[in-house]
Amino acid sequence: MAVHVHKPYQPDLHRYQSYIHRIYESGWLTNNGPLVQELERRLCDYLGVRNVVAVANGTLALMIAFQALEIRNEVITTPFSFVATTSSLVWNGLKPVFADIDSKTLNINSEEIERNISRNTSAIVPVHVFGNACEVETIEEIALRYNIKVVYDAAHCFDIKYRDKSLLKYGDASAISFHATKLFHTIEGGAIITDDDDLANRVRKMINFGITGPDRVGLLGINAKMNEFEAAMGLSNLDEIDIILGKREEVYDRYMEGLKNLVEMPKQNEHSTNNYSYFPVILRDEDTVLRLQKTLNEQDIFPRRYFYPSLDELEYVERDTICPVSRDISRRIMCLPMYPGLLDNSQNTIIDTLRKTIGKV
Ligand SMILES: *Cc1c(COP(=O)(O)O)cnc(C)c1O
Repeated sequence: MAVHVHKPYQPDLHRYQSYIHRIYESGWLTNNGPLVQELERRLCDYLGVRNVVAVANGTLALMIAFQALEIRNEVITTPFSFVATTSSLVWNGLKPVFADIDSKTLNINSEEIERNISRNTSAIVPVHVFGNACEVETIEEIALRYNIKVVYDAAHCFDIKYRDKSLLKYGDASAISFHATKLFHTIEGGAIITDDDDLANRVRKMINFGITGPDRVGLLGINAKMNEFEAAMGLSNLDEIDIILGKREEVYDRYMEGLKNLVEMPKQNEHSTNNYSYFPVILRDEDTVLRLQKTLNEQDIFPRRYFYPSLDELEYVERDTICPVSRDISRRIMCLPMYPGLLDNSQNTIIDTLRKTIGKV
Protein backbone atom coordinates (compact mmCIF):
# COMPACT_ATOMS: atom_id res chain seq x y z
CA MET A 1 0.00 0.00 0.00
CA ALA A 2 1.22 3.44 -0.90
CA VAL A 3 2.56 5.54 1.97
CA HIS A 4 1.62 9.22 1.87
CA VAL A 5 2.82 12.08 3.99
CA HIS A 6 -0.40 11.98 6.02
CA LYS A 7 -3.06 9.38 6.61
CA PRO A 8 -6.31 10.64 8.10
CA TYR A 9 -6.89 9.11 11.52
CA GLN A 10 -9.92 6.84 11.68
CA PRO A 11 -11.41 6.56 15.16
CA ASP A 12 -13.15 3.42 16.35
CA LEU A 13 -16.15 2.88 14.04
CA HIS A 14 -18.56 1.96 16.84
CA ARG A 15 -17.66 5.11 18.66
CA TYR A 16 -18.34 7.21 15.55
CA GLN A 17 -21.59 5.31 14.99
CA SER A 18 -22.79 6.08 18.49
CA TYR A 19 -22.42 9.81 17.83
CA ILE A 20 -24.12 9.41 14.42
CA HIS A 21 -26.92 7.62 16.19
CA ARG A 22 -27.47 10.74 18.29
CA ILE A 23 -27.76 12.82 15.12
CA TYR A 24 -30.47 10.48 13.81
CA GLU A 25 -32.30 10.74 17.12
CA SER A 26 -32.23 14.53 17.26
CA GLY A 27 -32.80 15.06 13.54
CA TRP A 28 -30.51 18.09 13.83
CA LEU A 29 -27.97 17.95 10.99
CA THR A 30 -26.37 21.38 10.97
CA ASN A 31 -26.75 25.02 12.22
CA ASN A 32 -25.00 24.97 15.60
CA GLY A 33 -26.35 21.57 16.58
CA PRO A 34 -25.81 19.78 19.89
CA LEU A 35 -22.67 17.92 18.76
CA VAL A 36 -21.01 21.09 17.46
CA GLN A 37 -21.78 22.75 20.78
CA GLU A 38 -20.41 19.80 22.71
CA LEU A 39 -17.27 19.76 20.58
CA GLU A 40 -16.69 23.47 21.16
CA ARG A 41 -17.11 23.07 24.92
CA ARG A 42 -14.80 20.10 25.11
CA LEU A 43 -12.18 21.81 22.97
CA CYS A 44 -12.25 24.89 25.23
CA ASP A 45 -11.54 22.61 28.18
CA TYR A 46 -8.99 20.44 26.47
CA LEU A 47 -7.03 23.29 24.93
CA GLY A 48 -7.44 25.66 27.87
CA VAL A 49 -8.85 28.53 25.80
CA ARG A 50 -11.83 30.83 26.28
CA ASN A 51 -13.74 30.69 22.98
CA VAL A 52 -13.69 28.09 20.22
CA VAL A 53 -15.98 28.82 17.28
CA ALA A 54 -16.11 25.77 15.01
CA VAL A 55 -16.26 26.47 11.29
CA ALA A 56 -16.30 24.57 8.00
CA ASN A 57 -12.52 24.72 7.42
CA GLY A 58 -9.32 26.46 8.43
CA THR A 59 -9.26 28.74 5.39
CA LEU A 60 -12.66 30.18 6.30
CA ALA A 61 -11.46 30.54 9.90
CA LEU A 62 -8.71 32.86 8.62
CA MET A 63 -11.00 34.77 6.27
CA ILE A 64 -13.64 35.34 8.93
CA ALA A 65 -11.07 36.44 11.50
CA PHE A 66 -9.83 39.07 9.02
CA GLN A 67 -13.39 40.31 8.43
CA ALA A 68 -14.40 40.29 12.08
CA LEU A 69 -11.32 42.30 13.08
CA GLU A 70 -11.92 44.75 10.19
CA ILE A 71 -8.49 44.20 8.75
CA ARG A 72 -7.88 46.37 5.69
CA ASN A 73 -5.19 47.20 3.11
CA GLU A 74 -1.79 45.67 3.82
CA VAL A 75 -1.07 42.66 5.97
CA ILE A 76 2.40 41.47 6.86
CA THR A 77 2.68 37.72 6.55
CA THR A 78 5.13 34.91 6.00
CA PRO A 79 6.02 33.47 2.61
CA PHE A 80 6.80 30.07 4.14
CA SER A 81 3.43 28.40 4.66
CA PHE A 82 0.63 26.54 2.97
CA VAL A 83 -0.94 28.59 0.21
CA ALA A 84 -4.14 29.23 2.22
CA THR A 85 -2.32 31.73 4.46
CA THR A 86 -1.85 34.03 1.46
CA SER A 87 -4.89 33.12 -0.62
CA SER A 88 -7.23 33.88 2.29
CA LEU A 89 -5.80 37.40 2.42
CA VAL A 90 -6.01 37.98 -1.32
CA TRP A 91 -9.56 36.55 -1.42
CA ASN A 92 -10.54 39.18 1.18
CA GLY A 93 -9.08 41.96 -0.97
CA LEU A 94 -6.07 42.38 1.30
CA LYS A 95 -2.52 42.87 0.13
CA PRO A 96 0.01 40.38 1.52
CA VAL A 97 3.37 41.96 2.26
CA PHE A 98 5.92 39.24 2.82
CA ALA A 99 8.43 39.46 5.63
CA ASP A 100 11.18 36.88 5.18
CA ILE A 101 11.65 34.02 7.62
CA ASP A 102 14.33 33.11 10.11
CA SER A 103 16.55 30.48 8.47
CA LYS A 104 16.67 28.36 11.62
CA THR A 105 13.11 28.38 13.01
CA LEU A 106 11.43 28.87 9.59
CA ASN A 107 8.97 31.26 11.24
CA ILE A 108 8.48 34.89 10.26
CA ASN A 109 11.48 37.02 11.23
CA SER A 110 10.40 39.73 13.69
CA GLU A 111 12.94 42.25 12.41
CA GLU A 112 11.59 41.79 8.90
CA ILE A 113 8.06 42.42 10.18
CA GLU A 114 9.04 45.78 11.52
CA ARG A 115 11.00 46.71 8.41
CA ASN A 116 7.90 46.14 6.26
CA ILE A 117 5.37 48.11 8.29
CA SER A 118 3.90 51.08 6.43
CA ARG A 119 1.07 53.46 7.17
CA ASN A 120 -1.23 51.06 5.28
CA THR A 121 -0.41 48.08 7.49
CA SER A 122 -3.39 46.92 9.53
CA ALA A 123 -2.32 43.48 10.71
CA ILE A 124 0.30 40.77 11.01
CA VAL A 125 -0.57 37.20 10.03
CA PRO A 126 2.25 34.94 11.19
CA VAL A 127 2.21 31.14 11.06
CA HIS A 128 3.51 28.83 13.80
CA VAL A 129 5.09 26.64 11.16
CA PHE A 130 4.90 22.89 11.91
CA GLY A 131 3.52 23.84 15.34
CA ASN A 132 6.73 25.64 16.37
CA ALA A 133 5.83 28.86 18.20
CA CYS A 134 6.71 32.23 16.64
CA GLU A 135 8.38 34.93 18.75
CA VAL A 136 4.98 35.75 20.19
CA GLU A 137 6.11 38.32 22.76
CA THR A 138 8.08 40.34 20.21
CA ILE A 139 5.18 40.21 17.75
CA GLU A 140 2.77 41.34 20.46
CA GLU A 141 5.05 44.22 21.32
CA ILE A 142 5.32 45.33 17.66
CA ALA A 143 1.53 45.11 17.23
CA LEU A 144 0.94 47.26 20.31
CA ARG A 145 3.49 49.84 19.24
CA TYR A 146 1.97 50.25 15.77
CA ASN A 147 -1.63 49.63 16.88
CA ILE A 148 -2.22 46.78 14.46
CA LYS A 149 -3.95 43.41 14.82
CA VAL A 150 -2.41 39.94 14.97
CA VAL A 151 -4.14 36.85 13.60
CA TYR A 152 -2.11 33.67 13.91
CA ASP A 153 -2.46 30.97 11.32
CA ALA A 154 -2.32 28.21 13.93
CA ALA A 155 -3.35 25.43 11.57
CA HIS A 156 -0.61 23.15 12.95
CA CYS A 157 -0.97 24.03 16.61
CA PHE A 158 -3.40 21.58 18.15
CA ASP A 159 -2.29 20.86 21.71
CA ILE A 160 0.81 23.08 21.56
CA LYS A 161 1.75 24.73 24.83
CA TYR A 162 3.86 27.85 25.07
CA ARG A 163 5.26 28.66 28.50
CA ASP A 164 2.78 26.12 29.89
CA LYS A 165 -0.35 27.60 28.39
CA SER A 166 -2.03 27.13 25.02
CA LEU A 167 -0.18 28.77 22.15
CA LEU A 168 -3.64 29.52 20.74
CA LYS A 169 -4.12 32.26 23.33
CA TYR A 170 -1.76 34.68 21.57
CA GLY A 171 -2.78 37.40 19.15
CA ASP A 172 -6.26 38.87 18.67
CA ALA A 173 -7.34 35.51 17.29
CA SER A 174 -5.93 32.20 16.10
CA ALA A 175 -7.26 30.19 13.19
CA ILE A 176 -6.84 26.44 13.40
CA SER A 177 -7.55 23.74 10.83
CA PHE A 178 -9.26 20.43 11.55
CA HIS A 179 -8.73 19.05 8.06
CA ALA A 180 -8.49 15.27 7.71
CA THR A 181 -4.71 15.45 7.34
CA LYS A 182 -4.17 17.43 10.52
CA LEU A 183 -3.32 15.99 13.95
CA PHE A 184 -6.87 16.47 15.23
CA HIS A 185 -9.55 16.45 12.55
CA THR A 186 -13.25 16.74 11.83
CA ILE A 187 -12.89 15.55 8.19
CA GLU A 188 -13.19 19.18 7.00
CA GLY A 189 -13.27 21.85 9.66
CA GLY A 190 -11.49 24.46 11.66
CA ALA A 191 -12.04 27.02 14.38
CA ILE A 192 -11.51 30.61 15.35
CA ILE A 193 -10.04 30.81 18.83
CA THR A 194 -9.98 34.00 20.85
CA ASP A 195 -10.03 35.31 24.41
CA ASP A 196 -12.19 38.23 23.24
CA ASP A 197 -15.87 37.40 23.89
CA ASP A 198 -17.20 40.25 21.72
CA LEU A 199 -15.11 39.06 18.83
CA ALA A 200 -16.34 35.49 19.35
CA ASN A 201 -19.96 36.68 19.32
CA ARG A 202 -19.45 38.64 16.13
CA VAL A 203 -17.80 35.63 14.53
CA ARG A 204 -20.73 33.39 15.54
CA LYS A 205 -23.09 35.65 13.61
CA MET A 206 -20.75 35.99 10.65
CA ILE A 207 -20.50 32.25 10.10
CA ASN A 208 -24.29 32.07 9.76
CA PHE A 209 -24.85 34.69 7.04
CA GLY A 210 -24.67 37.59 9.50
CA ILE A 211 -28.12 36.72 10.82
CA THR A 212 -28.58 38.42 14.18
CA GLY A 213 -32.22 37.62 14.95
CA PRO A 214 -35.48 36.50 13.41
CA ASP A 215 -35.86 38.40 10.12
CA ARG A 216 -32.75 40.39 10.85
CA VAL A 217 -29.34 40.46 9.17
CA GLY A 218 -27.17 42.73 11.26
CA LEU A 219 -23.83 42.36 9.57
CA LEU A 220 -22.06 40.96 6.52
CA GLY A 221 -21.77 37.22 6.90
CA ILE A 222 -21.09 34.05 5.01
CA ASN A 223 -21.89 30.36 5.40
CA ALA A 224 -19.05 28.74 7.32
CA LYS A 225 -20.91 26.38 9.61
CA MET A 226 -19.58 23.03 10.75
CA ASN A 227 -22.15 20.24 10.46
CA GLU A 228 -23.07 17.55 12.99
CA PHE A 229 -21.37 14.69 11.14
CA GLU A 230 -18.10 16.61 11.19
CA ALA A 231 -18.55 17.35 14.90
CA ALA A 232 -19.22 13.62 15.48
CA MET A 233 -15.87 12.82 13.89
CA GLY A 234 -14.24 15.51 16.03
CA LEU A 235 -15.75 14.15 19.24
CA SER A 236 -14.65 10.61 18.33
CA ASN A 237 -11.11 11.80 17.65
CA LEU A 238 -11.04 13.85 20.83
CA ASP A 239 -12.03 10.69 22.76
CA GLU A 240 -8.93 9.03 21.28
CA ILE A 241 -6.57 11.99 21.39
CA ASP A 242 -4.13 10.34 23.81
CA ILE A 243 -3.75 7.39 21.46
CA ILE A 244 -3.20 9.73 18.52
CA LEU A 245 -0.54 11.76 20.32
CA GLY A 246 1.20 8.70 21.75
CA LYS A 247 1.46 6.97 18.39
CA ARG A 248 2.77 10.11 16.73
CA GLU A 249 5.46 10.47 19.34
CA GLU A 250 6.58 6.88 18.68
CA VAL A 251 6.92 7.58 14.96
CA TYR A 252 8.77 10.80 15.69
CA ASP A 253 11.21 9.12 18.09
CA ARG A 254 11.97 6.39 15.61
CA TYR A 255 12.82 8.95 12.90
CA MET A 256 15.01 10.84 15.36
CA GLU A 257 16.80 7.66 16.25
CA GLY A 258 17.44 6.80 12.60
CA LEU A 259 18.22 10.26 11.29
CA LYS A 260 19.82 12.27 14.05
CA ASN A 261 22.94 14.11 12.97
CA LEU A 262 22.13 13.26 9.36
CA VAL A 263 19.61 15.94 8.47
CA GLU A 264 18.99 19.50 9.54
CA MET A 265 15.66 20.20 11.22
CA PRO A 266 13.95 23.46 12.17
CA LYS A 267 15.18 24.90 15.44
CA GLN A 268 12.54 24.39 18.09
CA ASN A 269 11.37 27.38 20.15
CA GLU A 270 12.60 26.53 23.65
CA HIS A 271 9.31 27.58 25.28
CA SER A 272 7.14 25.64 22.86
CA THR A 273 6.13 21.98 23.06
CA ASN A 274 6.07 19.76 19.98
CA ASN A 275 2.92 17.92 18.86
CA TYR A 276 4.77 15.69 16.37
CA SER A 277 2.49 16.66 13.54
CA TYR A 278 5.24 16.94 10.91
CA PHE A 279 8.72 15.59 10.30
CA PRO A 280 10.46 18.22 8.16
CA VAL A 281 14.01 17.63 6.96
CA ILE A 282 16.17 20.34 5.42
CA LEU A 283 18.56 18.97 2.82
CA ARG A 284 21.66 20.43 1.24
CA ASP A 285 20.11 21.44 -2.08
CA GLU A 286 17.06 21.05 -4.30
CA ASP A 287 18.75 18.36 -6.35
CA THR A 288 19.03 16.17 -3.23
CA VAL A 289 15.34 16.76 -2.49
CA LEU A 290 14.35 15.72 -6.01
CA ARG A 291 16.57 12.64 -5.94
CA LEU A 292 15.17 11.59 -2.60
CA GLN A 293 11.62 12.18 -3.76
CA LYS A 294 12.16 10.10 -6.88
CA THR A 295 13.78 7.20 -5.02
CA LEU A 296 11.00 7.14 -2.43
CA ASN A 297 8.28 7.44 -5.08
CA GLU A 298 9.73 4.38 -6.82
CA GLN A 299 9.09 2.50 -3.57
CA ASP A 300 5.50 3.77 -3.40
CA ILE A 301 6.33 6.34 -0.69
CA PHE A 302 5.18 9.91 -1.18
CA PRO A 303 6.69 12.61 1.04
CA ARG A 304 5.58 16.18 0.34
CA ARG A 305 7.52 19.31 -0.39
CA TYR A 306 6.03 21.36 2.45
CA PHE A 307 6.20 24.21 1.81
CA TYR A 308 7.03 24.76 -1.83
CA PRO A 309 6.91 27.12 -3.63
CA SER A 310 7.63 30.05 -1.38
CA LEU A 311 4.45 32.16 -1.43
CA ASP A 312 6.28 35.29 -2.59
CA GLU A 313 6.60 33.40 -5.89
CA LEU A 314 2.84 33.01 -6.40
CA GLU A 315 1.56 34.21 -9.77
CA TYR A 316 -1.31 36.20 -8.32
CA VAL A 317 0.55 38.32 -5.79
CA GLU A 318 2.42 41.50 -6.55
CA ARG A 319 6.06 40.63 -6.57
CA ASP A 320 7.41 43.69 -4.89
CA THR A 321 8.91 41.77 -2.02
CA ILE A 322 11.36 38.94 -2.55
CA CYS A 323 12.24 36.64 0.31
CA PRO A 324 15.54 34.90 -0.38
CA VAL A 325 15.62 32.89 2.85
CA SER A 326 12.13 31.47 2.33
CA ARG A 327 12.88 30.71 -1.33
CA ASP A 328 16.06 28.89 -0.40
CA ILE A 329 14.47 26.84 2.40
CA SER A 330 11.37 25.97 0.40
CA ARG A 331 13.53 24.42 -2.31
CA ARG A 332 15.46 22.28 0.19
CA ILE A 333 12.81 21.06 2.61
CA MET A 334 10.63 17.99 2.61
CA CYS A 335 8.17 16.50 5.07
CA LEU A 336 8.46 12.77 5.64
CA PRO A 337 5.38 10.55 6.12
CA MET A 338 4.17 11.10 9.66
CA TYR A 339 0.95 9.69 11.08
CA PRO A 340 -0.24 7.36 13.81
CA GLY A 341 0.10 3.80 12.60
CA LEU A 342 2.87 4.38 10.05
CA LEU A 343 4.31 0.86 9.80
CA ASP A 344 7.81 0.17 11.13
CA ASN A 345 8.64 -1.44 7.82
CA SER A 346 7.79 1.65 5.80
CA GLN A 347 9.59 3.86 8.25
CA ASN A 348 12.74 1.72 8.02
CA THR A 349 12.62 1.97 4.23
CA ILE A 350 12.33 5.76 4.47
CA ILE A 351 15.23 6.01 6.92
CA ASP A 352 17.45 3.69 4.86
CA THR A 353 16.67 5.56 1.67
CA LEU A 354 17.51 8.87 3.30
CA ARG A 355 20.77 7.52 4.65
CA LYS A 356 21.79 6.24 1.22
CA THR A 357 20.67 9.34 -0.69
CA ILE A 358 22.26 11.83 1.64
CA GLY A 359 25.44 9.79 1.89
CA LYS A 360 25.88 10.02 -1.90
CA VAL A 361 27.36 13.35 -2.98
C1 LIG B 1 -4.13 23.17 6.45
C2 LIG B 1 -3.69 24.60 6.50
C3 LIG B 1 -4.58 25.66 6.24
C4 LIG B 1 -5.95 25.45 5.68
O1 LIG B 1 -6.81 24.72 6.44
P1 LIG B 1 -8.06 23.99 5.74
O2 LIG B 1 -8.82 23.46 6.90
O3 LIG B 1 -7.50 22.92 4.86
O4 LIG B 1 -8.82 25.03 4.98
C5 LIG B 1 -4.13 26.96 6.42
N1 LIG B 1 -2.87 27.22 6.81
C6 LIG B 1 -1.98 26.24 7.03
C7 LIG B 1 -0.60 26.59 7.47
C8 LIG B 1 -2.35 24.89 6.86
O5 LIG B 1 -1.44 23.92 7.04
